[in-house]
Amino acid sequence: MKTLKELVRPAIWDLKPYSSARDEYHGTATVFVDANENPYNAPYNRYPDPMQWEVKEKIAQQKQINPTSILLGNGSDEPIDLMIRAFCTPRVDNIVAIDPTYGMYQVSADINDVAYRKVPLSADFELSAAAVLAAVDEHTKLIFICSPNNPTGNELNRAEIYSILQGFDGMVIVDEAYIDFSSHRSFTTVLDAYPNLVILQTFSKAWGSAGVRLGMAFSSKEVIALLNKIKYPYNINQLTQAYALELLDRKGEVDEWIRILLIERTRVAQLLNSLTIVHHIYPSDANFLLVRVADADKIYKQLSDQGVIVRNRNSVSLCQGCLRITIGTRAENDIVLEALKNIAL
Ligand code: PMP
Repeated sequence: MKTLKELVRPAIWDLKPYSSARDEYHGTATVFVDANENPYNAPYNRYPDPMQWEVKEKIAQQKQINPTSILLGNGSDEPIDLMIRAFCTPRVDNIVAIDPTYGMYQVSADINDVAYRKVPLSADFELSAAAVLAAVDEHTKLIFICSPNNPTGNELNRAEIYSILQGFDGMVIVDEAYIDFSSHRSFTTVLDAYPNLVILQTFSKAWGSAGVRLGMAFSSKEVIALLNKIKYPYNINQLTQAYALELLDRKGEVDEWIRILLIERTRVAQLLNSLTIVHHIYPSDANFLLVRVADADKIYKQLSDQGVIVRNRNSVSLCQGCLRITIGTRAENDIVLEALKNIAL
């Protein structure tokens, strides 16, 4: 791996970050008159902890990760953007990513005016480390790997991911938004072995909190310190921090949701299999199924006419003819299956 200094944008390396009142004084006091807050309307009158230590401590305990190796963001979309802003000089550096994958990597690259190179997965959605590494040049700073991948649903070959981590001298981001639905282990267990690894996870999927907007990035404390320099000082608000503390205590409930959703994933796949309009159901390690159907556009339209909204992936590379169907409650899944039975082509 190149040194962090060699990889980071010079302007960011040299940046003197904003220092807030809450950065400069920690602890209890009789009177706080340092941040131009309103003394009324407690507890919302005070700025929240800019580093969210209480929440990070709890996450750290559950995931066996050092709190200084955690960044919290406004969804995991925030650390995606922070990584690009920290490492990629616009119009100079580039990013390599698999294709198809989660759309925000490219959108964030485009917003930051950073070239985005797509490396196709194989027809069965497998990753080739050799192909990814062949797309790298001296200006490639980041590689995005999403596993389990969206929209394909599969966990990518771990040996290939390790080859990329070992063979690339820049940063590798492994997006594990769907890891809680997978039987495979998270890459968090090897965080210490790979200083160029950044793992993304989110409260939006298994944790049932997409509306709250809370995502996590795990990496070396040096990389996390760098991202902390450029994030908005109070990027996680007080309501979200309080909610996260409460949610993290409900891990048992979350595990039960996951258990039920996995049973439903198997049941829905079996029932879909018996429909003639369904041509193929791809194996899924996530909370959705990618399904190749007889006519994706027509079926999408007829489903939405019946009030059932799936994601039409017909125009996505390698996903022609495919719909992506999220696993809902048993009752919701039954409605989706019934609507699919009513399709007339
Ligand atoms: N990564 C992947 C692979 C996703 O599918 C999504 C959301 N669809 C995200 C990240 C973004 O999640 P968040 O809600 O945490 O921003």
